[in-house]
Amino acid sequence: MQLPTINTADWAHSTRDEADLFDQASGLGFGDVHFKIDQNTHLRAIIAIHNTRLGPALGGCRCVPYPSTRAALLDVLHLAQTMSYKAAIAGLPSGGGKAVIVRPSQVYDRELLFEAFGDFVEELGGRFISSVDSGTGVADMDVMARRTRYVRSTSATAASGGDPSPITALGVRYGIEAAVTFKHHRSDLSGIHVAIQGVGHVGYALARQLHKLGAALTICDSDKWAAERCADEFGAKIVSLEAIYTVPSDVFAPCALGGVINDETIHKLATGIVAGATNNPLSDLRHADILHNRGILYAPDYVINAGGLMKVLVQDPTALLKKVAGIHDTLLALFTQSESTNTSPLRLANRMAESVLYGPDAV
Ligand code: NAD
Repeated sequence: MQLPTINTADWAHSTRDEADLFDQASGLGFGDVHFKIDQNTHLRAIIAIHNTRLGPALGGCRCVPYPSTRAALLDVLHLAQTMSYKAAIAGLPSGGGKAVIVRPSQVYDRELLFEAFGDFVEELGGRFISSVDSGTGVADMDVMARRTRYVRSTSATAASGGDPSPITALGVRYGIEAAVTFKHHRSDLSGIHVAIQGVGHVGYALARQLHKLGAALTICDSDKWAAERCADEFGAKIVSLEAIYTVPSDVFAPCALGGVINDETIHKLATGIVAGATNNPLSDLRHADILHNRGILYAPDYVINAGGLMKVLVQDPTALLKKVAGIHDTLLALFTQSESTNTSPLRLANRMAESVLYGPDAV
């Protein structure tokens, strides 16, 4: 069997007309892809269902501007595949899916937009369950819930309700601790310098936790207010969007959008560890090899940021915290195997996920 290769993200920002889209989706291991246009609300949305072998496809809904439909489609395809791998590695009963809403360029009514998107999700009859992602929040999920049963991260009081970001950030913190333990043979983060790219929902919660643990923070964000909040509350140093790559740090934590580690930026990195929440931060799988060969420890995105998915699926609070804490040991085992096999942690994680999804013989 031809195994899909996970990654990633030049495509999300690309307007180039490259390979056939059916071939690309097929190469990623799909699956089905659904489009919706609603003229009344300006909804243009895509839902990608990658794999339902382990359960219904669960994934966030992004609402961001895209330079082209192709860019939106490639983004949702890769993100949905990542969700399959995330659930597989975390041992969760969930398939992989994702949704994107192309944020309308004209004036629009957000409630009507998310009601129409809720109708779209409902039409799929439970094959896809939506949650929050970049550009969407709990309030949007509440609006969707008027129209569909298949939505999570609402403000409902159930354990699976609410914003998953703080739990995602907790998992990232455990991942950073695992990486620091592996690389520096110490488990505390006191005095460790972390450069956080993007201090939105997850980045801010991560900054708060790291500050409490005594880490020194440098941050950047395209939203001036978000950056200043971290400077005021945690004494974080603010740098420009470009400078964040070159800041000498112990850990670089991408917590914004994908594809940020690419041919242009990878050689600028002045860090020993890359560990953050961003989905698909590497532009291509080969960038994982470049990091590995440079001695920069990379915590695979879909392993370290699985806390949010865990929150949606694990109802019991004690079991949830135990599961999230397990991210530490999963990563430590990956790093150890990576060293002994001289293989990048991302390649190893991909193999593990593919073994769960397609059987051990497929790897
Ligand atoms: P968010 O939209 O709340 O935050 C992203 C932040 O990045 C915003 O403050 C934004 O202004 C900033 N930003 C945008 N472009 C930037 C740039 N070029 N440089 C610096 N900052 C920039 O999103 P979030 O929910 O915090 O998610 C962040 C990342 O983590 C995304 O890739 C998301 O897919 C991933 N993720 C989130 C969760 C979750 O629970 N929210 C779970 C898993 C993965």
